[in-house]
Amino acid sequence: QIFMPLNFLGFVYREIRGSLANIENLFKLLETRPQVGDPTDARELSIEQGRITFNNVGFYYHADRQILKDVSFSVEPGTKVAVVGESGAGKSTLVKLLFRFYDPKSGSIDIDGQNIADVTQHSLRQHIGIVPQDTVLFNDSIFENIRYGRPDASEEEVNEAIRLAHLDQFISNLPDGAQTKVGERGLKLSGGEKQRVAIARAILKRPAILVFDEATSSLDSQSEQAILRALREVAKGHTSLVIAHRLSTIVDADTILVMSQGRIIEQGNHATLLAQQGMYAGLWQAQQKQAD
Ligand code: ADP
Ligand code: MG
Repeated sequence: QIFMPLNFLGFVYREIRGSLANIENLFKLLETRPQVGDPTDARELSIEQGRITFNNVGFYYHADRQILKDVSFSVEPGTKVAVVGESGAGKSTLVKLLFRFYDPKSGSIDIDGQNIADVTQHSLRQHIGIVPQDTVLFNDSIFENIRYGRPDASEEEVNEAIRLAHLDQFISNLPDGAQTKVGERGLKLSGGEKQRVAIARAILKRPAILVFDEATSSLDSQSEQAILRALREVAKGHTSLVIAHRLSTIVDADTILVMSQGRIIEQGNHATLLAQQGMYAGLWQAQQKQAD
């Protein structure tokens, strides 16, 4: 569940800078220490268009329980693919494999025709921006927390990212503006605000591939709308993979994958899936009822 905004976990220890927001985050970082290494002849991932392909991927955390079963799909360059399905279906696991926290037990994952197991993790993570469910913030100013997306970004670039992530209004109401400290002894951000910080980081990083694991926590619809607008800005022209809990947020996806118990059981766009009257249509109707 824990996707660090730290896009390169190999650097985690050096990045901690003695000032984590709280000790719990430290444990989270330790838990997600990569379990995979670079092959000795690893090459740099070379991104051309940003096409992601899962080829018959099988995966388990423990051999007695298969989590992903023969999962195949591709995300065409510049398109948006959404993944929906019940909790525990394996959606976040797809993202963990893409970021190479783990390797598939069978099958493979390619980016622009290169097996991600053959390239350096550094280059892989450089090209993928993740907006996680739970963003970790440092005990530092909100400005530096955003600049973390690309430490050499100029002040203007950070301010632009703040604007595109729709954080400007929030920041202008803070006592010290963007210099306000966040974290344990500073400002506490809501889940939606933290996600917008993560989006601002992603905007600065401008990755070829963007992965968004939607917050499950019920955001009010105003912050949800702000997050969606921010996300559309950053996703423009990029390949994006969105794990969605609220279907209303992904009706515009080019392709929607419906997962259940580790398999893709339906795929298509919103209209075709509704017409199919299968699981997606059922989920949609249930969520519409809830919204009413
Ligand atoms: P989703 O995101 O669709 O809710 P996940 O991919 O997070 O589902 O999880 C799929 C299944 O794998 C769940 O049953 C979950 O409990 C299990 N799982 C997730 N992470 C781990 C882990 N690190 N170790 C063991 N089991 C895990
Ligand atoms: Mg999940």
